[in-house]
Amino acid sequence: MSIETRSLIEQRLREAGLKVTPQRYAVLDYLWRHRTHPTADEIEAAVNYRFPCASRATVYNTLHALREAGLVQEIYVRGGVTRYDIRLEPHHHFVCRRCGRLEDISAVVVQVEAPDLFAERTVESFDVVVHGLCAACRRNEVEPSS
Ligand SMILES: [Zn+2]
Ligand SMILES: [Zn+2]
Repeated sequence: MSIETRSLIEQRLREAGLKVTPQRYAVLDYLWRHRTHPTADEIEAAVNYRFPCASRATVYNTLHALREAGLVQEIYVRGGVTRYDIRLEPHHHFVCRRCGRLEDISAVVVQVEAPDLFAERTVESFDVVVHGLCAACRRNEVEPSS
């Protein structure tokens, strides 16, 4: 772990008005290094490995605080468990219905360009989850291995 990454994470916490605690740091650090959209259970296991005293409730509370502060994004997958992502550059998600793989897709794919639709409302953020078959599963479907 480089010193730059460490201070960047601490800076993000402070900018969001959160105190830098070992648990918050550990969760953000894990999400920073694992862009695989882990579940809360996976994050808990990883954080516990470093802080054996971190209870499940602590990890869930930490994730909640980070989400409220806009540092972490929750991704709801139809029929699946909630997954987590560090919020860096805006992006959307693609979930494979066969293998469950969750991939980042560019935010420019979808844009909120219908002002009438939101008339008196203010759009602050929106999340898009696109469902389908990932490249690997599509290949298997087109050329089934017999
Ligand atoms: Zn797949
Ligand atoms: Zn993502």
